[in-house]
Amino acid sequence: MVAAVRPLTAGAKAGLAPGDRILTINGRGLRDAIDFQFYGAEDRLALTVEREGRRRTLALTRRPGADLGLELEAPRPGEIATCANKCVFCFIHQLPKGMRRSLYVKDDDFRLSFLHGNYITLSDLDEPSFERILEQRLSPLYVSVHATDPELRWRLLGQPRHSVDILPRLDRLAKASIRVHAQIVLCPGWNDGEHLERTVHELAPLHPHVVTTAIVPVGLTRHRERLPELRTLSDDEARALVDTVAGWQARFRASLDSGFVFLGDEVYLQADRPLPPAAEYEGFAIAEDGIGLVRRFEDALALALSRRRAARAGRRVTLVSGAMYGPRLARLLAEAPLAANARVASVPNELFGGSVAVAGLLTGQDIQRHLATLGDLGEAVLVPAVALRDGEGVFLDDLTPDDLARALGVPVIPVAPDPRALLEALRA
Ligand code: SF4
Repeated sequence: MVAAVRPLTAGAKAGLAPGDRILTINGRGLRDAIDFQFYGAEDRLALTVEREGRRRTLALTRRPGADLGLELEAPRPGEIATCANKCVFCFIHQLPKGMRRSLYVKDDDFRLSFLHGNYITLSDLDEPSFERILEQRLSPLYVSVHATDPELRWRLLGQPRHSVDILPRLDRLAKASIRVHAQIVLCPGWNDGEHLERTVHELAPLHPHVVTTAIVPVGLTRHRERLPELRTLSDDEARALVDTVAGWQARFRASLDSGFVFLGDEVYLQADRPLPPAAEYEGFAIAEDGIGLVRRFEDALALALSRRRAARAGRRVTLVSGAMYGPRLARLLAEAPLAANARVASVPNELFGGSVAVAGLLTGQDIQRHLATLGDLGEAVLVPAVALRDGEGVFLDDLTPDDLARALGVPVIPVAPDPRALLEALRA
């Protein structure tokens, strides 16, 4: 389904319009957005389109390599393949009740992995889907590994009925040159220590097809009811993990020409250790998953603050951040003239509670409740755009920035996690 058509593009010239359902391209039926990309790669396309219940054929020609200018609608919850797992750490099982239905969708869909970088377990993947991945060369994929020991992985995935042996599947993808970003959600007492060592070292021989292996700490909310016993990393464990991973990276750099294994930013913050330099993130391929995001942001922030345009005092604002990063951001901005009139508000996450302290999971109500205790908020409140759901402009609890603005009595402006956007918002 076409969601939007950019003007002056091949799609617009062919007469496509939002709401059109594209049924075939050059005679081939489309199952989804991936088929659209796959069969739409040619420069001359004959499209069968359904509009207001009637079918029509549109001819589309584009310059080689040019974008068609079409944005497709996101799949609806019923169209997404979901998992049959009950992972011991699943965040969805720890959500409070009564939130929007779409937040409870346990997607495990290779198409969303390819299109949007969602992590999949490959455990429910049927043979036709596997063959489709190979045939259409859907690469890279993002795979939740957690452990290579089949029995341990089976327990981590909640003892599903089907086989969860991951290495043969990754091997099959590797043989077809499908690239994979692997992820390990680290649950202390479950898959750490020697299990982690085994997992990392059984994945490494699959490099460069397994491009990266990310280790991220488990996140626990206060809504864990009737779920397996889990705990977060202690500070000592975080420090030990930083050292262990640094040792592995040094060895992998010598043997694989890549650090190969990467540790989530929050572990360095918890351990109070410096983040690795930018070059060690090897292009920031998985920054959006919290691997190097802080390093990339802080390097760009330091550069932006050193520019002459940042030397003037900025306007009086309240800058909202999560409880984990807020104090660090306040320190980084403390000496910056542009931020002289900005106050950083580190907002605790009351809704989720537990160890959840990232800005991306802040709710409108948490922000409203906390800011109401702060007195004068200045000329505006800057909220992290990552806390708003893509394309919908609403916080997880369905409040909007406008709702907040009405409640707080000051404009509320979403700011992208990009130093340039932040500095622009700070300027008077
Ligand atoms: S695969 Fe596991 S973590 Fe992912 S949605 Fe399913 S149960 Fe949750």
